[in-house]
Amino acid sequence: MEFNTKLLHGKAIVSNPSREILPPVSQVTAFRYESMEELEKVFLHKSMGFAYSRIGNPTLSAFEQRVNELEGGVGAVSCSSGMSAIATALLGVCSAGDEIIAGSGLYGGTISLFHDLEKFGIHTVFVREMTPENIREAITDRTRVIFGELISNPTLKVLDVPTVAELAHEAKIPLFIDSTTATPYIARPLALGADVVIHSTSKYINGGGNSIGGIIVDGGKMAWDFGKHTALADFKKYGKRAFLLRLRTDLWENMGGCMAPANAFLNCIGLDTLGIRMERICSNADKLAKALAEIPGIEVNYLSLENHPYHGFVEKELGGYGGGILTFRAGSKEKAFAIIDKLNYALIASNIGDIRTLVIHPASTLYIHTSVEEREAAGVYDDTIRVSVGIEDPEDLIDDFVSAIREAAQDEE
Ligand SMILES: *Cc1c(COP(=O)(O)O)cnc(C)c1O
Repeated sequence: MEFNTKLLHGKAIVSNPSREILPPVSQVTAFRYESMEELEKVFLHKSMGFAYSRIGNPTLSAFEQRVNELEGGVGAVSCSSGMSAIATALLGVCSAGDEIIAGSGLYGGTISLFHDLEKFGIHTVFVREMTPENIREAITDRTRVIFGELISNPTLKVLDVPTVAELAHEAKIPLFIDSTTATPYIARPLALGADVVIHSTSKYINGGGNSIGGIIVDGGKMAWDFGKHTALADFKKYGKRAFLLRLRTDLWENMGGCMAPANAFLNCIGLDTLGIRMERICSNADKLAKALAEIPGIEVNYLSLENHPYHGFVEKELGGYGGGILTFRAGSKEKAFAIIDKLNYALIASNIGDIRTLVIHPASTLYIHTSVEEREAAGVYDDTIRVSVGIEDPEDLIDDFVSAIREAAQDEE
């Protein structure tokens, strides 16, 4: 089955009791049982069933199974947000005294989370360029996880997943990938060798800009060293599924960061059209990037452009797609603001992955609390504009941006 067919007819499309085409929204806190014996079995994980929606809910299960099937995992847990998913996944494998290796050009919220984790005795070693050589050098006997974004937002650097996974596994360390910007349509990190995939479903998976959410998918292939990964020691009997069980029956339910059933429902609707949305979004982004690159004085960062330093990965890891995000440098902060303010179709909003084109000046918003060094490591300069390309007609989008840039230049003269 190809991607779009699998979205609509895959194994994970469970038939619902009343033959609903979509998973019904189980908008309940708890589930009732005929006997105490039955409920006891559910609590002991001896029979399948739902007890309380923080721990499990049919709408969440439907969504989890669908993403799990697309990513090729052994199981997934859905979370209240992308940040909740990242925090839960990292705490799932780290204890006080442990180290994380991560790229310095990651999503701003994730960088902030790494700073927070220092207070719990979990130290992050930041690697400026996530090249296999640099990562290998950063590994110590305390390293418990390597964390990277497949396509970093907004730097647009691509992680060499097969090579990094291999060196991670030699050192008995798992590779966790935040694949939010790549989506399961563009890339399948588990098939490339990663151990765990995380998404902020708030972005492309939902697609309609209507729900905050996140998901963690376990590939189930990691040969855990339980002497090293003491956070998983109690789950040793589950072998390669230890991480999933640690989350499902322990950390995830105890942290309480579950997804709301209504959001899981909206995410299922979003997921149905992920393939065709991404097709259109990537095609639009490609056309817009090429049009902007022709304007003198405008420096464009987009993966599909021939001169992009990570261009080679588009074919190698991203199925030929450059993704839906591009950035460009306007010359100065004032000019960047002037261009943004003149746009008619692109909405000024702090989000990505919407069907509507969104723009933002990251330095004065998303990176306002980070140091200039951290900001520049993330490819964010004073004049950088980030565009999350939507599904509008490409002619209109190009016209909107080209006119705004031209008018901003005229105003300056
Ligand atoms: C948005 C985003 C997150 C955080 O997700 P939320 O759903 O906003 O909590 C994490 N990683 C990346 C790459 C993102 O774009």
